[in-house]
Amino acid sequence: MSVTGLPPYDDANIFARILRGEIPCKKVAEDAHALAFHDIHPQAPVHVLVIPKGRWVSAADFHAGAEAEAIAGFWRMVTAVAKEQGLEASGYRILSNMGQDGGQEVPHFHVHLFGGRRLGRMVP
Ligand code: C5P
Repeated sequence: MSVTGLPPYDDANIFARILRGEIPCKKVAEDAHALAFHDIHPQAPVHVLVIPKGRWVSAADFHAGAEAEAIAGFWRMVTAVAKEQGLEASGYRILSNMGQDGGQEVPHFHVHLFGGRRLGRMVP
């Protein structure tokens, strides 16, 4: 079990399948470290998912050392996509659901990038 109580990484999860090209996505950007694509059920005018290529269920699985460049590369993609989507001036929100209580549906670490309108206040 990972720290968040989720099972170990499963290569059959839907985002792993998207990364392998087995399931299509509306791609926004891709590089060696991450893939960004439009969420199929957008909750805002801009709702992009950014997923790392590392086999991480949650941020609790990040390890320093060998993975440091991969982790940094992932976060560079998040800010690059926000800029590419025209959100830099007006602002945006990034959110990551982790584990059961966090409402995580797909057990491959990812962040949601929301923007394009004034977002409501976050409530638990
Ligand atoms: O953070 P959480 O795991 O709850 O969210 C997963 C997200 O992945 C959902 O917003 C869902 O709409 C999205 N999704 C997608 N394409 C798929 C499967 C899920 O955009 N093929």
